[in-house]
Amino acid sequence: MGLEHQDNVTYIPSHPHLFRVHFAPGFHSSSLKATRDFVAGEEICRLEGVTNAENAWDTIQYGKNQHIRLNSDLVYVNHSCDPNIAFDLSSANREDWYSRALKTISKGDALSFFYPSTEWEMDQPFECWCGSGACLGQIKGAAFLPREELETRGYVSPHIRTLAEERGIWPS
Ligand SMILES: [Zn+2]
Repeated sequence: MGLEHQDNVTYIPSHPHLFRVHFAPGFHSSSLKATRDFVAGEEICRLEGVTNAENAWDTIQYGKNQHIRLNSDLVYVNHSCDPNIAFDLSSANREDWYSRALKTISKGDALSFFYPSTEWEMDQPFECWCGSGACLGQIKGAAFLPREELETRGYVSPHIRTLAEERGIWPS
């Protein structure tokens, strides 16, 4: 999700064999880039060390009202409307939460996920500049998107499906 510029001198990568933060000045300008290749469907890593949190710009939603903080370099995964990874927090067992590649990822590629795949109503909506042909422009969360815009991005979390069905956005 990108944080403010940090001093590279103090940066200790959390998963250097998988990805590494590329710092850039400005909000959401930093990115997380793969340090190896991944094939579509491949597990990137388990989400170890997550903690419960209130909904915020840097949290991931995993239930109707439940959010976690990643506490690793994965917080630098930016949004894209054409994402190359997913955060799968669908298991009842937290140890099975993981990130996976949605498509072929080459070493050096920036990792991205579709925020509305986990976020129902985002704490901080923003204007997307991902450059994808499928770019939605304003990203506010799944609550503001029709079904076809959610289901064509590679992954939708179960709690998002449930909330969409409850609100009548999707027929159950
Ligand atoms: Zn976009």
